[in-house]
Parts: sequence; C-alpha cells; structure tokens
Amino acid sequence: MGDYFQTIVDLDATEQDAARLGAVLLDRLIADGIVDAERTDCVLDADGYGNAPGPNYAKAVDDPEPVELWSNGLYIATGRTVFDSGQGEAGVATCPLCATTIRLVDDTWCPVDDAWEPFAGRFEDWEKGGEGAVECTSCHRPSGIDRWSWEDGYYACGQLGLTFWNWAELTPDFEQEVRRRLGGHRTVTLRGKL
Ligand SMILES: [Zn+2]
Repeated sequence: MGDYFQTIVDLDATEQDAARLGAVLLDRLIADGIVDAERTDCVLDADGYGNAPGPNYAKAVDDPEPVELWSNGLYIATGRTVFDSGQGEAGVATCPLCATTIRLVDDTWCPVDDAWEPFAGRFEDWEKGGEGAVECTSCHRPSGIDRWSWEDGYYACGQLGLTFWNWAELTPDFEQEVRRRLGGHRTVTLRGKL
C-alpha cells in the first residue's frame, strides 16, 4: 500500500507572489467545489491540515470514485521547497546549459556517490535561500539546482506546490486550468508514493 500523491509545482512563482497565488487558487478550487472550504486533518504534509475533496472533485480527475482513504486532501505549500516523488530514486539529472545527462544510479538503481558529488548539499543550500549552484561535469559551468531537470520529474524546486493525496490521476484539462489560474506559469507534476 502506501499513500499516492500528485504535486503540481509552479516553476515561475516568486517568493513575493507565491502565497497570494496559492490563496487565490485555493479560493477558486473551493468556489468550483473541487475541494471543501474547511481545513481538516486529511493530508500527510507538515501540519496534517488540508482541504478534503469537494462535491465536484470528480471534475478534476479521470476516475469519479470518491477517495475513501483518510488522507485525501489538498495541501498547498508556499516558500522555497524542494518537492520530490517520495519512494525511489532520481535516475538522471540534466544540465540546463548543455543538456548533458548525468546518471545518478547504477544498474540496480542504487545511488552512485561519485555522480551525486556535485549536487551534495545543494538542495539544502537552495532551500535556505542560496543559489545551490551545481557545476556541470561536462561544460563546467555552474547553474542553480532549481534549474536542473530530473528524469520522470523526480524533483522540482519551486515556491508554490499543490499536493493532492490519493486522488485519481488529475486530468490534463484540470492541470491546464490550474496553469491558467496561475497566470500561465510553467508547472510540472510530480507523481509519487509515501
Ligand atoms: Zn553542462
């Protein structure tokens, strides 16, 4: 078993506008009946409080069956956050400047220490407000770890993330609507398990 989650991460929200964007979006989702207005104990994030599915929940997903699990809510995180996919490992990282791919695991999907070396401590640095600069082993130029991309969207660095716990797969139309509500920002959707 385990708890399945999907996180839509806004890649363009800034430190200044993340909280406002998150609040406006939540109001919209409540008004549309996608989630309930009341915050209840229904998510596995930080304080455990989120918004449970609303009467029109099925409009956002590809399967109209209600989520019978205790953890079935929406949690909105704001502020610098490294979102990840929970179980498993990131397989490959890609340099944003030269598109070189760095394989991070061996044939048995165990992390390779040497490959991870340039990334060591960089997520933590970025989360604390630093650049988290990673020097590419191929082009030797540094770029912030928030600009690197990760196989299967394993990681995403952002200021705003919406995590849906145990919901059926979010539809492309719903994700498109979320992007529109975020002012056309780029998003990436992480799918994982805890
Ligand atoms: Zn490079």
